[in-house]
Amino acid sequence: MSNSIRLGVIGGGQLGSLLCVAAKKLNIETVILSDDKDGPAQKFCDHFIYSKYENNEKIREFISKVDIVTYEFENIPIDFLNLIEKEKKVLPNPKINKIAQNRKLEKTFVNELGINTTDWTYIKTAEDIKKNQHLLPGLLKSNTLGYDGKGQFVLNSLDDVKQDWCFTSDYILEKKVNLKKEISVIITRYSDGTMLYYEPIENIHKNQILHKSKIPADISEKIFKDAIDSAKKIAANLSYIGVLTVEYFITANGKLLVNELAPRFHNSGHLTIEAFNISQFENHVRAICNLNSMQIKKISNAEMRNVLGFEIQKYKKRNLKKNEFFYDYQKKEPRDGRKMGHLTVLKD
Ligand code: AMP
Repeated sequence: MSNSIRLGVIGGGQLGSLLCVAAKKLNIETVILSDDKDGPAQKFCDHFIYSKYENNEKIREFISKVDIVTYEFENIPIDFLNLIEKEKKVLPNPKINKIAQNRKLEKTFVNELGINTTDWTYIKTAEDIKKNQHLLPGLLKSNTLGYDGKGQFVLNSLDDVKQDWCFTSDYILEKKVNLKKEISVIITRYSDGTMLYYEPIENIHKNQILHKSKIPADISEKIFKDAIDSAKKIAANLSYIGVLTVEYFITANGKLLVNELAPRFHNSGHLTIEAFNISQFENHVRAICNLNSMQIKKISNAEMRNVLGFEIQKYKKRNLKKNEFFYDYQKKEPRDGRKMGHLTVLKD
């Protein structure tokens, strides 16, 4: 029997695909709107609409086909989300999206809740960097539209600020921290205020791209508790509905700092598909479609490894053991560093 909810999803990548699979399990129809005509999620959704954000006719078709709208990535123009929201509910609320798209707003919001981030400042000119030398060595990050290390420059000293940089957009300068570990907390908040969370997940990056995620994270009880508490505080303060990911740094001297917020399910949460009774994707669908919440139970410890670029060819031929689960995102072309699939290994 159908739940008669038609869920619109903006974005047609692997996160969209995995969301559609979870929705199908709950008898919810999915309609993808993607600006990539090759978006792999077209193989997993019920309807696929290829359109640029400016194509009014296609956008109208999308809006008319759905009851509620969500998204698989946060860098969607706010005006576009607001336009959709005039007619159909968008969850998580676009106001949250505005914060998560802008590092200055995001860090200010987190700091105002009394939660620590790296030391940082807002940068408009080379002169601003000079005035904030105490933050060097540091990372200059574009204030908007950055992900997976894109739009970032390492500044070891003022000599790294090149004469020809013209600062056409705005940045933040963040002190480089001596990282011991990175973890993420994936939390789901339902409209009645119920919050369900997975234990912190430990993340290992290579070249600023997620390489591996594992549970349990090798962290102290205090860090475990503090990470969950601050994720709850953030979700509650945003009156959030859906899945929220909070990424953290743990410094060499044991401090917990929020790195960034993702108003969505997350690459580090792929292991929740097999390691828990309810995955991050199912939780997101349940929360935004106002279905009942179900207690999260761990089935197994696990490790997830991203399969990048041409590695996919080797993985496609691999004989899987019974504790191994391989996902091929079915992207048309492998490219160096492109996320092509993942492998989850259950550990006990
Ligand atoms: P981001 O896109 O800001 O999440 O950065 C991508 C990755 O770069 C992070 O997951 C870290 O591994 C690394 N990184 C970012 N900012 C810092 C920092 N302030 N200090 C040390 N490493 C960082």
